[in-house]
Amino acid sequence: MRIQLSGLPLEPQTFEHRGAADEYINDRDTFSGDIYIQAIIHREGNSLRLNLEAELPGQFICHRCGDSFTRTHCFKGEYFFISDEGGGLSTDREFSIIPKGAVSLDISQEIRDMILLGLPAKILCSNDCRGLCPHCGVNLNKDECACQTEVIDPRWKALQKLKNEKS
Ligand SMILES: [Zn+2]
Ligand SMILES: [Zn+2]
Repeated sequence: MRIQLSGLPLEPQTFEHRGAADEYINDRDTFSGDIYIQAIIHREGNSLRLNLEAELPGQFICHRCGDSFTRTHCFKGEYFFISDEGGGLSTDREFSIIPKGAVSLDISQEIRDMILLGLPAKILCSNDCRGLCPHCGVNLNKDECACQTEVIDPRWKALQKLKNEKS
């Protein structure tokens, strides 16, 4: 995605883009749809503030129960740019440099960073996903299984053994 810099007015400008997600994330199996991106550019002296938002639908496999589901992830990020002519700026912000005389700004890397940072490492179908039964493998979101009641308290097991030995 490119932002036109020449003739950029003083007031914040909003740019929108919708296109194939694989331009920004290299995972066509998960993200086969389009990404929607909104970029707002604020001019602050010789620097630019970029506020990014994106919506990215995907087809995921739950980390806990293995079910597949679709979800749209939303991302937000803030990035700062400064023109090459700047110099001598003391700040704790991290700026990317806008090359001297640039007429447009490529913000594709910022979009990629925002997506990679924003995607959770473990994606769950829901926060209270009950996962699979460790004994029989049943998906506990959909089915009940008898395993829970069959797991006997070890103290009862000892009693049971005694009882069995007597009879
Ligand atoms: Zn799940
Ligand atoms: Zn079970």
